Amino acid sequence: MSTENRPGTLLKAIRYFSDLDVATEFVAKLRWPNGPVCPRCGSVEHSYLSTRRIWKCKGCKKQFSVKLGTIFEDSPLGLDKWLPAVWLVANSKNGISSHELGRALGVTQKSAWFMLHRIRLAMQTGSFDKLHGEVEIDETFIGGKARNMHRHARDRRITGTGGSDKTVVLGMRQRNGETRATVVGDTKRGTLHAQVAENVTPGSAVYTDAFRSYSGLSRDFAHQTVDHAEAYVEGQVHTNGLENFWSLLKRGLHGTYVSVEPFHLFRYLDERLFAYNLRELNDFGRFAAVLAAASDRRLTYGELTGQR
Ligand SMILES: [Zn+2]
Repeated sequence: MSTENRPGTLLKAIRYFSDLDVATEFVAKLRWPNGPVCPRCGSVEHSYLSTRRIWKCKGCKKQFSVKLGTIFEDSPLGLDKWLPAVWLVANSKNGISSHELGRALGVTQKSAWFMLHRIRLAMQTGSFDKLHGEVEIDETFIGGKARNMHRHARDRRITGTGGSDKTVVLGMRQRNGETRATVVGDTKRGTLHAQVAENVTPGSAVYTDAFRSYSGLSRDFAHQTVDHAEAYVEGQVHTNGLENFWSLLKRGLHGTYVSVEPFHLFRYLDERLFAYNLRELNDFGRFAAVLAAASDRRLTYGELTGQR
């Protein structure tokens, strides 16, 4: 689509996509830049039934809609609801609750909850490249209830767990690159080292605090530690970028959600990481990035930001 037709605000997006022909064409063009492809058999031979907005495939003789094979599949809600929902989630600073989303779209909270989880599924980045260069590594504890979610650094030093009701999240942030975070079972050395090995290129510079589970990283990485007890940051050895992400994450959890079950926390993390990693884009750019992922068109962080 031409740049001047792109909706730039939520209000314009709602108006623009309220026309189901426009919404269908928009998703179809994003999903199939070279023309529709049958999700079942891969055929590009088809006829379009414009009154029902579906294609009849000449290969397998079956019909398909633009929703088939995407996160919108099986949903009775139209793209006139889905596309504004994607816009809202992609551009929310702190996340959006199913109650808010339901009210904004005029759908039930249950429908909105389902939509949110589908959109978060699309927001799993699917990037398999390892981080490299300078990488900050830090872990944080997230409790079942918002009021318990500040960092329990003292508990951690004493017990090494941060308390049994807390979920541990390990974050890794490449300077001038992608931020990742993942729910881990505990803060034992083996657990944390395995995650670092999986996500960071050997030989990279890694910066952590002085927590004992990080000791030994120097075997495979250029490991330097920063002591949080020190009042100042020494040179480039700090984890401030990750601390910034933690505070945004916790503000979102605190302000938007009464509680996030540990089981669902990873989906929420995916959503917040996706938005955080695309923070340099404008609203339309973030919306289109989520929508591209929703349509199973893989885009890496680097492709989206033009870094690679
Ligand atoms: Zn087919």
